[in-house]
Amino acid sequence: MLVVYHTRYAEVYSSDPASAPGRIESILDELKASYEFVEPEQASAQELMLVHTLDHIEHAKTHRPTFEIALLAAGGATKAAELSMQGKPAFALIRPPGHHASRNSSWGFCFFNNVAIAIEKLRIERKIGKALVVDVDLHYGDGTASIFAQSPQVTYFHPEGASRQSYVDELHQFLSVPRGPFGILAVSAGFDRHEHDWGGLLKTEDYYTIGKMLKEFAEAKCDGKRFAILEGGYNHSVLGKSVKALLDGIG
Ligand SMILES: [Zn+2]
Repeated sequence: MLVVYHTRYAEVYSSDPASAPGRIESILDELKASYEFVEPEQASAQELMLVHTLDHIEHAKTHRPTFEIALLAAGGATKAAELSMQGKPAFALIRPPGHHASRNSSWGFCFFNNVAIAIEKLRIERKIGKALVVDVDLHYGDGTASIFAQSPQVTYFHPEGASRQSYVDELHQFLSVPRGPFGILAVSAGFDRHEHDWGGLLKTEDYYTIGKMLKEFAEAKCDGKRFAILEGGYNHSVLGKSVKALLDGIG
């Protein structure tokens, strides 16, 4: 598993919890010894326009320096997706997150929809047909769901389980129903459903279990092609360990 990372992701670009000081470092501390890092470039205007309106992009430009970091986040997602197409599963350790960004608006600490841009780039380049997005963030990715609402080729799934067991069971059940094959599995990896984060539900080891299930699914249905990108996760004392658990499972 490769980790796509740029030092500018550690910049504190706003006052929201996704941009909090120490958040990225808490993940770096856990990953740096075990994973190889790859540096991405900024997404281009053409890449943003695969998903977003010109109005949205122009509006985002007024938020500096967030705009530059958001371009790098989108570029990090496309880099992770491209690596995964080359047979190298990758995790994009990026911020700002993206799953609350729709075509023409965004909220919830998001600016551009990183996962959607990565998938649309692969689709326009005809590298994939169908794609599956599994979103394990606490919050429903309304942006991602709305962007792909008219695209039957892209399936979006967000488990909701009310207990640890029912959450894992719901994901397992979804992955067990015959569907696919898909060109790629994309994981919107949020960690705010951790028992010590806002969602108060999952234990650190559950992220390993989830990662393992997703890896097995990708190997069976996506020719092994899989990538994950960081979404939410706000308790710095457990965030890095949760990310590492997911990567150890999915990698
Ligand atoms: Zn969230």
